[in-house]
Amino acid sequence: MSKKDTIPVRVFLPEEKNPKFYYNLMADMPNRPAPYLHPATKQPVGVSDLMGVFVKDLAEQELSSERYIEIPKEVQEYYRMYRPSPLHRAYQLEKALDTPARIYYKYEGQNTSGSHKLNSAIPQVFYNKIAGVKSLTTETGAGQWGTAVAIAANFFGLPLDVFMVKCSAQQKPHRKAVIETYGANVVPSPSNITESGRKILSEDPECGGSLGIAISEAMEAAMGRENTRYVLGSVLNHVILHQSIIGQEAMEQLQMVDEYPDIVIGCAGGGSNLGGMIAPFVRENLAGRASSRIIAVEPSACPSLTRGVFAYDYADAACICPIAKMYTLGHGFVPASIHAGGLRYHGMSPIVSQLYNDKLIEARSEPQTRVFEAGMLFAKTEALLPAPESAHAILAAIDEAKRCKETGEEKVIVFLLSGHGYFDLGAYQNYMSGNAVDAQYSDEMLKSGLDSLPAA
Ligand SMILES: *Cc1c(COP(=O)(O)O)cnc(C)c1O
Repeated sequence: MSKKDTIPVRVFLPEEKNPKFYYNLMADMPNRPAPYLHPATKQPVGVSDLMGVFVKDLAEQELSSERYIEIPKEVQEYYRMYRPSPLHRAYQLEKALDTPARIYYKYEGQNTSGSHKLNSAIPQVFYNKIAGVKSLTTETGAGQWGTAVAIAANFFGLPLDVFMVKCSAQQKPHRKAVIETYGANVVPSPSNITESGRKILSEDPECGGSLGIAISEAMEAAMGRENTRYVLGSVLNHVILHQSIIGQEAMEQLQMVDEYPDIVIGCAGGGSNLGGMIAPFVRENLAGRASSRIIAVEPSACPSLTRGVFAYDYADAACICPIAKMYTLGHGFVPASIHAGGLRYHGMSPIVSQLYNDKLIEARSEPQTRVFEAGMLFAKTEALLPAPESAHAILAAIDEAKRCKETGEEKVIVFLLSGHGYFDLGAYQNYMSGNAVDAQYSDEMLKSGLDSLPAA
């Protein structure tokens, strides 16, 4: 029998194969991300400066060039409750597409956060706890990160305030309920409890919020309270480091069935699921041991890689965070309220940005109606309802599989299914009733967004 039909539907790694180390792609990148700059002085920041924002362990990881970093025992114990995550062979999707390609997906939705976000929430809360921090703040867009931190903060016994992008809080009331189940406090953002929130509301009382605004509010709230720290769920190097467990597991699972990907695909909002998934595959490419194509997929309404510029910009709307060199649409840009809330961020991880700039990965942007169409086909064939964010990756996998049908190539396509869509049913209903519109991203939007870039 050929590989066409002998591989198990789900490839499970035995528990003892759980990674013991995070893999740090920065150790192997030909060009490391440019240094962060201080928001006021515009001078490069080191670990001690970053410690104004993050606890020491996380600040060190942010700038580390060590290749493998040990996962703390307590964090490994927690991971064991829901990891390793399964790798699926998408037999039914392949059949529906009548493609000679073999399609695999790594599924990160099997925990209560519903996504990969818990992989970084656990170590971040853990490092804060052992550093003596007494309470945490964070932001959340679609709600997955807020849920993940709420779960981890409850586990390690830290109180938490979650600034949730207001339009998401309205679109997904049940997300708010899950976060509250874990004892965290949800604040719709922009709010009137921070300076940055009040400023935005005075200019636009109806503002539905954005990740950039929520980050500003959460940062400001943390800085104004004693022994309180802010944790961020994407974009940063240490987040991608934590997410490297996904790619490491996937590589082992593929080895178990004697496969290696021709194409690796992930959706990209701030770049953390993508960055974590691709890290070991990029390492193999760089070492000359493989030549996989690696594809980042973003929404047309927020196309930071495909339309943005590679420049220094603020990570947040109020310009309190360090300035990072990244692909950006400008920190003043507020993306349209598309349903893939987790992909509505003006910038992109410095690691992913640098890889893209160095042409080590590809990127494409897709309109949400095509994305939902792909998500629906996946739900019907694979019996799993994907998050709208993850459906971006599904769409690219489908497009590549269709290309294989035309050329007759038996490619191995692996994508990351970053989460489930059971809190996105309003979005699916909206799509099914024909009300999902493809928000346009215009040259004027780009121009006005880029006007907000700092002079570096
Ligand atoms: C948050 C989220 C994303 C986008 O964030 P990245 O940092 O780009 O991974 C994608 N998918 C899901 C399910 C998410 O929760």
